[in-house]
Amino acid sequence: MIDTAIKGQLKAYLERLQRPIELVAALDNSAKGQEMRELLNEILECSAKVSLRETDTLSRVPSFAISLPGETPRIHFAGLPMGHEFTSLVLALLQTGGHPPKVEQAVIDQIKSLPGSFNFETYISLSCHNCPDVVQALNLMAVLNPNVTSTMIDGAMFQDEVNARQIMAVPTTYLNGAEFGAGRMLIEEILAKVDTGAAARAAEELGKKESFDVLVVGGGPAGAAAAIYAARKGIRTGVLAERFGGQVMDTLGIENFISVPHTEGPKLVASLEQHVKEYAVDVMNLQRAGKLIPASENGGLVAIQLENGATLQAKTVILSTGARWREMNVPGEAEYKAKGVCFCPHCDGPFYAGRHVAVIGGGNSGVEAAIDLAGTCASVTVLEFMETLKADQVLQEKLRTLPNVEVHTNVQTLEVEGDGSRMTALRTKDRSTGAEKRLPLDGVFVQIGLSANSKLFAGILDTNRAGEILTDKECRTSVPGVYAAGDVTDIRYKQIVIAMGEGAKAALSASEDRIKGII
Ligand code: FAD
Repeated sequence: MIDTAIKGQLKAYLERLQRPIELVAALDNSAKGQEMRELLNEILECSAKVSLRETDTLSRVPSFAISLPGETPRIHFAGLPMGHEFTSLVLALLQTGGHPPKVEQAVIDQIKSLPGSFNFETYISLSCHNCPDVVQALNLMAVLNPNVTSTMIDGAMFQDEVNARQIMAVPTTYLNGAEFGAGRMLIEEILAKVDTGAAARAAEELGKKESFDVLVVGGGPAGAAAAIYAARKGIRTGVLAERFGGQVMDTLGIENFISVPHTEGPKLVASLEQHVKEYAVDVMNLQRAGKLIPASENGGLVAIQLENGATLQAKTVILSTGARWREMNVPGEAEYKAKGVCFCPHCDGPFYAGRHVAVIGGGNSGVEAAIDLAGTCASVTVLEFMETLKADQVLQEKLRTLPNVEVHTNVQTLEVEGDGSRMTALRTKDRSTGAEKRLPLDGVFVQIGLSANSKLFAGILDTNRAGEILTDKECRTSVPGVYAAGDVTDIRYKQIVIAMGEGAKAALSASEDRIKGII
């Protein structure tokens, strides 16, 4: 199961076990059961501190759990945690064995003091790069709190469960038998959902903060760069972010971050965070800004009202709230999100193997998604609003060689239809003839670009028709003391290096304008 090099690494990791741990397994003679037995035996060979006990008391077969000897197991793997999940396995072994987790003490304390019992079940696919974050967060909670259990379930192995629960996107997490969340969630986000008093406590703490010289709203590449540049000027700097890392967290491979030939989104975000934290920057993560109040209406300081009720004040504010997947805005889209309507082909594609899907959008991302999906889906229909596809020629040529792909151009999507629990069809209109059509489908992947996260500034700052904040060459907006950078602005190209450059420029402008007394 594990190749020699990885086994060597696993052996080295397991030397960090501080106490004996037990693998508790319910195995059968199926091919997957045999593979699981092989994997568990290989783990045993890596450390004398690991033992194996077979049982018939686990609810899923084949599956295994990790626990301290004599304890009821709380971390379960119903599936082979290989591929992206191998790290989840290693961390579960180490953390159960007493190796300290890399999370802040406040998070550990919050997990330990959670009131109630929490039985989490997370459906994953081994090709999903968002799934391990959720599995690892829940496993850690199970290690730290005896009232928490966490089970990773490979949807491909437990198809009956997936069908019964109508799961069509991963990761999908259930808590105590009810759907809890879909998509990537960080441990802090999970805690915010289960610990209902946490938001009020956070608001109280934030409300006590002194005003900032520079407050950056948004923690993507633009916000991170702005924070570093501002902090290096020695001025009081804060970063408020709904999710530190922004879109980069959702990016698989990055090959145009200059001087780094290849990296992965979460890896780049970890470096960004580490770099920001080298300076005296107050990072307020998992906090959502709700409203901007100009200095002219707030006694000379710009104010940001948070959704949790707290207000932060600053001499200057840099807005770098980025962008998010654009939605179709048609009836049925919201109702069938993660029940047929998907945005991430890498994550959710495996659930549509052998099924009929459509891709909305004929740009590079749409055509790339269609090529990817055609490898496993029964059929892929590409629907493009304009008369021609916009993707690069080389991608279009590849697409047209695929026998199970159909391309329809000049088509408008009118509605996502469903049976109440999952989507069943798309209603479309031919824009040249006006003829309407019903396409029976199992899923649709929406790939029509991004829209700026600027709703909270609407009516306060000048924006263009696409909702992007208008800025001058120095990143100033139409409101004094407020600057903007990155994908939320009307800057021409939306890329990491460009967002970083703009963030740096916004911080330098804010600092210089203050020195010159412009604001
Ligand atoms: P974002 O990255 O969008 O960050 C916005 C930040 O603002 C986040 O922290 C968000 O949580 C926060 N925020 C939003 N609203 C609020 C609010 N109300 N309150 C508080 N915080 C808020 N670019 C490349 O150069 N190379 C690539 O290979 C590449 N691949 C990509 C792949 C995908 C799938 C996607 C989606 C994008 C890709 N991009 C790539 C584009 C690149 O990721 C963006 O251009 C870049 O992330 C923009 O940075 P930003 O800081 O402006 O915004």
